[in-house]
Amino acid sequence: MLTIGCHLSSSKGYLAMGKTAVSIDANTFQFFTRNPRGGNAKALDETDVKDYLTYAAQHGINHILAHAPYTLNGCSADEHLRDFARRTMEDDLRRLEFTPGNCYNFHPGSHVGQGVEAGVAYISDMLNQILTPQHQTTVLLETMSGKGSEVGRNFEELREILDRVQLSDKMGVCLDTCHVWDGGYDIVNHLDEVLDEFDRVIGLKRLKAVHLNDSMNDLGSHKDRHAKLGEGKIGLEALTRVVNHPALSGLPFYLETPNELDGYAREIRMMRERYH
Ligand code: FE
Ligand code: FE
Ligand code: ZN
Repeated sequence: MLTIGCHLSSSKGYLAMGKTAVSIDANTFQFFTRNPRGGNAKALDETDVKDYLTYAAQHGINHILAHAPYTLNGCSADEHLRDFARRTMEDDLRRLEFTPGNCYNFHPGSHVGQGVEAGVAYISDMLNQILTPQHQTTVLLETMSGKGSEVGRNFEELREILDRVQLSDKMGVCLDTCHVWDGGYDIVNHLDEVLDEFDRVIGLKRLKAVHLNDSMNDLGSHKDRHAKLGEGKIGLEALTRVVNHPALSGLPFYLETPNELDGYAREIRMMRERYH
């Protein structure tokens, strides 16, 4: 069975997200841990979490994916912004212990002119300060499109970060199809080779989730504009090969396409029909 879902609003809590997911035939979902632009998270409602966990178990939701606010920049040149990123991530991970065994995805950040080496060092330092052997959440680095000075624009940069994190078994990677395409990996014509390269550079065992998006732009454009499945430059045939690829079998797939709920429902139905 294909594990597929989409990004949902977390404003009404966990149980509401679980019910919304089930209503569109999703068996997983992604959500922002707080306002995507940053700021304080709402107090965690432990009753909601408990009700959600019961509901999820009854409805076959076995994984969910938390996403850090995308403004978080753990490799900013500004010490205050780095400190803010670290405290936010620490707090997110503390809260995620209430729903143990899931993943927490974040954008490595932008080095804003200091260079990739400095960026990689700041990100791994931050992770080394935060992660403890007790954490029950796996932290994922997302593959980025390389717009501006984004770190994580190729598999090597993610590998550099992973190599420097001491509690390595707490770390994984989330592959975003729009981002890798925009980053120059030709998943349309050379999916096997791209996944082989991922395996060689990072290791497929690190891959814990896939963001399933089409792209408005061409291969190597470094733009990061998501398109609805089949309405972009990647196309439905290539995305169908992604969900059916044996190297990705069993992974959860998350839509981050420009859709409302009915559009997500349609894309989930479409990919379930195309999965064999
Ligand atoms: Fe993301
Ligand atoms: Fe993504
Ligand atoms: Zn994106």
